[in-house]
Amino acid sequence: MPLTTTHDVTVLLIEDEAEIRRFLRTTLPPYGYRLYEATTGAEGLAQATSRNPDIILIDLGLPDMDGTEVIRQIRGWGTIPILVLSARDQEQVKVAALDLGADDYVTKPFGVDELLARMRAASRHAARAASDGVESTYTFGDLRVDLGRRQVFVSGKEVHLTPIEYKMFATLVRYAGKVVTHRQLLKEVWGPLHVDEAHYLRVYMRQLRNKVEANPAQPRHLVTELGVGYRLRTE
Ligand code: CA
Repeated sequence: MPLTTTHDVTVLLIEDEAEIRRFLRTTLPPYGYRLYEATTGAEGLAQATSRNPDIILIDLGLPDMDGTEVIRQIRGWGTIPILVLSARDQEQVKVAALDLGADDYVTKPFGVDELLARMRAASRHAARAASDGVESTYTFGDLRVDLGRRQVFVSGKEVHLTPIEYKMFATLVRYAGKVVTHRQLLKEVWGPLHVDEAHYLRVYMRQLRNKVEANPAQPRHLVTELGVGYRLRTE
């Protein structure tokens, strides 16, 4: 449904592929997005500082520098939501981009619905981060989480999580709607010395799903992003 925002949200697109730029130029404005375009990393960095956009969409393979370098530099001074537009075979680069502070990614070719959903999620997360400490209760379908009181409810009934399970769940809640990489999750829950222990995640994710999912074999809330990480679904 077009025109879901009351004022234009500014988007900076850093992308050298003319076809993608053309697609977004026609697709985004009807939804209330104002698009600025850059075709190189240097131009993207310049526009990011001069325009201070509400959200940045970035391709990782840019002609003058790696997109991950652009992300690293932007994260040096700002928290603007960054969404990566990545090719299917860029698994490692995609993970590196997320670890550097990109908020999420969409894989090319992407549909406009998916892109818009990811953009909304990234913006929501940025708004939530800005109001940190003000609100602490979140609802996702039959799940309710109170981060202030460290309580989790499934269909109104409180479930008891172990400290590790809770830490893992709370991390996914803080990044709700966004993919959290294996490394990010390991770092937040077990600390920086354990970022390579991916098997911890499989064990604890199984336990967590058993407690909060109606059907743990087909999770509705805690979804796996294959080869990348996990995401708490917000819709
Ligand atoms: Ca490219």
